[in-house]
Amino acid sequence: FSTICDNRGRRIGIVSVSNDLTERKRVEQDLREAKERAESATKAKSEFLANMSHEIRTPMNAVIGFTDLLLNTNIDPVQRDYIETIRSSGDSLLKVISDILDFSKIEGGMMELENECFDLIECLEGSINMVAEAAARKGLALSYEVKPTVPRYLLGDLTRLGQVLVNLLGNAVKFTEKGFVRVDVSALPMEDGYEIQFQVKDSGIGISQDRMSRLFQSFSQVDASTTRKYGGTGLGLAICKHLSELMGGDIWAESTPEEGSSFCFTIRAEASEQPHPKPKKKLPEISLDLSERHIPKSLRILLAEDNVINQKVAVRMLERLGYRADVAADGREVLAALKRRPYDVVLMDVQMPKMDGLEATRSIRRTPCQQPYIIAMTAHAMKGDREVCLNAGMDDYVSKPVRIEELREALEQSRTPVLKG
Ligand code: ADP
Repeated sequence: FSTICDNRGRRIGIVSVSNDLTERKRVEQDLREAKERAESATKAKSEFLANMSHEIRTPMNAVIGFTDLLLNTNIDPVQRDYIETIRSSGDSLLKVISDILDFSKIEGGMMELENECFDLIECLEGSINMVAEAAARKGLALSYEVKPTVPRYLLGDLTRLGQVLVNLLGNAVKFTEKGFVRVDVSALPMEDGYEIQFQVKDSGIGISQDRMSRLFQSFSQVDASTTRKYGGTGLGLAICKHLSELMGGDIWAESTPEEGSSFCFTIRAEASEQPHPKPKKKLPEISLDLSERHIPKSLRILLAEDNVINQKVAVRMLERLGYRADVAADGREVLAALKRRPYDVVLMDVQMPKMDGLEATRSIRRTPCQQPYIIAMTAHAMKGDREVCLNAGMDDYVSKPVRIEELREALEQSRTPVLKG
């Protein structure tokens, strides 16, 4: 509304304009519905991918488990070479699967970050270690420098920071034939903490100007010929971009063809106190060689696993480690077995028919009996899985594909409380 006045300021009328909003409301409603449809489609897709990733990880558990076991047998050098190739192909396949899973989680808005105290140097060195062997094979100089202003202990997500670093380092090593790969870390104090900058620089093949713009887009490798030569899904950098943004920062690159590339990303983080060191477990050395005498065979182990092939993988791995195990195919069988005799350790698959591992665990914890040490074994790779298992009353967690070394550590860990008292 607006009023009309005469030249002395007296109100003499009112002008009112009215619009028919029906059309606009209808468009708004349509838009809202379209947005909701799109969101639920994205969510459904993420869930589908998460399930599919689980379905792929389950057989991969057998592939990787048995190759691990084979590598520990008497084989000739040619066989070793073949088996190592299967093994590293298995690892690459798993990497692709977790990239797709991560990407769909980010897209569906389901990626949540941890906010825990961690050691930046440890994270950096751990990431560099992951590519050290590949760099050494190519004779590349691999180094890092952390500016003294960078706080060593930070609050944030160690795993995701490591993931971005490993990705950039992996690319740097992959696309560099000679020279160096180096990481520089610097920090800028901000009002509420620090902006930490990481630069990964290489002296590799570089990226041409016209390809730079597509670099951080999903599913885009800078050109098809690179894909054929080097492989890869083209999701790595897109994930890095999302992750650094989720961590409050940004990512960018500079490059000169034939000279090298430099990838920079930042994160926002608060400095923290030095975390309490985790109690170091003093593990008695166990040899993988069955002829050794001091192998502990005393643990009574129950393996709960519904997939027959994965049962076999786990049983053989346990044998390798010098243990014997009884097998249960689902949660109900676990409960029945525990009634018959006590077990020290239950290796508990989470997804099982009839009664799943979580329900079985809760039920065991409610029952007044000699309580076993329960280790979850799951092909879920989602954040929060560990918590779900621990909340249900389990003591530890190993993810599938189960590596023999991890299994060994988890079993040794189970003995610690026994040793203590
Ligand atoms: P992928 O997961 O397939 O490696 P990325 O998203 O990590 O995909 O990388 C996309 C493309 O960017 C690579 O295929 C490569 O062509 C190019 N690229 C990434 N890092 C470098 C680098 N350090 N040097 C040269 N090219 C690179």
